[in-house]
Amino acid sequence: MRTYPDLNLFIDGQWRKTSKDMPVVNPATEEELGRLPHAGIPELEEALRAAEKGFEIWRNTSPRNRSDIILKAASIMRERQEEIAQSITAEHGKPLAQARLEVIRGAEFFEWDAGEAMRMYGRVIPSASGHNISVHHHPIGVVAAFSPWNFPMSQPARKIAGALASGCSIILKAAEETPAGAIHIVRAFEEAGLPAGVLNLVFGTPSQISEFLIPQPSVRLVALTGSTSVGRHLTGLASQSDTRVLMELGGHAPVIVCEDTDVEKAAISGAVRKMRNCGQVCTSPTRFFVHESIFDEFVSRFVKRAAVTVVGNGFEDGVEMGPTANARRIPVLTELVDDAVAQGAEVRTGGARHGDIGYFFQPTVLTNVPKTAKIMQEEPFGPVAIINPFKDLDDAIAQANSTPYGLAGYCFTNRADYIERLANEVEVGNFSINTLEASLPETPFGGVKSSGYGREGGTEGLESYITIKNVWHSANIV
Ligand code: NAD
Repeated sequence: MRTYPDLNLFIDGQWRKTSKDMPVVNPATEEELGRLPHAGIPELEEALRAAEKGFEIWRNTSPRNRSDIILKAASIMRERQEEIAQSITAEHGKPLAQARLEVIRGAEFFEWDAGEAMRMYGRVIPSASGHNISVHHHPIGVVAAFSPWNFPMSQPARKIAGALASGCSIILKAAEETPAGAIHIVRAFEEAGLPAGVLNLVFGTPSQISEFLIPQPSVRLVALTGSTSVGRHLTGLASQSDTRVLMELGGHAPVIVCEDTDVEKAAISGAVRKMRNCGQVCTSPTRFFVHESIFDEFVSRFVKRAAVTVVGNGFEDGVEMGPTANARRIPVLTELVDDAVAQGAEVRTGGARHGDIGYFFQPTVLTNVPKTAKIMQEEPFGPVAIINPFKDLDDAIAQANSTPYGLAGYCFTNRADYIERLANEVEVGNFSINTLEASLPETPFGGVKSSGYGREGGTEGLESYITIKNVWHSANIV
């Protein structure tokens, strides 16, 4: 039997309903899954007081105990993989197999950061006799975090893991479209014995929540995964109270396909990977720049594979791509495709909404898209691939770097001289060669340029959540 959890806020260790709620809808069927309570100012004030109290408890809990609780919660999530995956597919639409992988990836984020909690070493600075100078790490304070709907569990997991491993408390506003992933995480922490107030979960009107929480003196970090425009807005709010930000914003990943590569393998890999999560991935390979000598063959193989992508309800066997996660993606994607076509791009497959129930969009391939088309600058965040030719490596690099984004970039080549230049000159935070994977829990993930600031994961992942204090102890008064 498919399960979907009861939807609640979680404040100071209590599950809560409020007088205002909103429907949560299955994007494949448009059926209502449940009603999500919305927090107003009174609930946000309670969440803030709870997080302030939770911070005092948690910062004074030993790293070993913090790590143990995080690991216990992660193991509960692993045990509930099937239940959580079903909730994700119901509210987000992705194929169940991809939702199962997401649950494991979410647990891995917790496991990695639980280990890092034990390794937040300071250092001792060589100093004169009678003086002891040392560098200490302290948790920064209450974290206000905002997670998006494209990965309902693993996106909240990244923010909660970083905060809790560092000794911070957190108020998370998860995406209103996909609340169940975060609710399952909170349940696991409740059962693992996390003290009340350390982790609080709210939903509501995003602008009201950010405008209330960000200026509060006890909130010392604002962490967002979302669009560049929302990131700029929240960074502006944070600057008013000199609050640190961790911003994981959009991407518009280039893929440079060089003439020496295995064209068939590269094309199939690109077509399959582009459609994963219905293209709603900030590292999704989107702008394919292909050497002109292999362009026609690459396009033909890519289009052949993209066109047979099995689209449908993520609960059905064999489905490779579900719907977009919410109704507003369809007009955005349609407008981007229409604009590109009006400017001379060719639609090689897809290009429009798929069916009339659910928020499905056809797997779409555009070729020869002019630089002036909006889609060359705006992240489509949907199942749309752009394939354009390049003449030489200078041209490929210039085209790859021609957007304000710099999150992920990829190339297919075995030439050492190409790899050397591409890895150095493509302006991104994550660059992968002969694979369209961009990150793991143990690698630092984040962007350059308008793709954001700070890193999640890797040994760098806790840096945003800590402050550094230099302590100078002189044995005698001097
Ligand atoms: P959005 O930026 O409006 O929303 C992203 C998240 O931010 C959501 O959870 C939303 O509730 C929250 N948000 C929005 N306005 C806010 C505010 N004023 N204060 C606090 N939180 C706020 O994006 P969207 O319409 O949901 O998606 C559109 C675009 O967002 C996509 O095209 C893509 O570029 C980007 N996006 C990126 C990621 C990513 O992984 N980097 C994930 C989802 C969406």
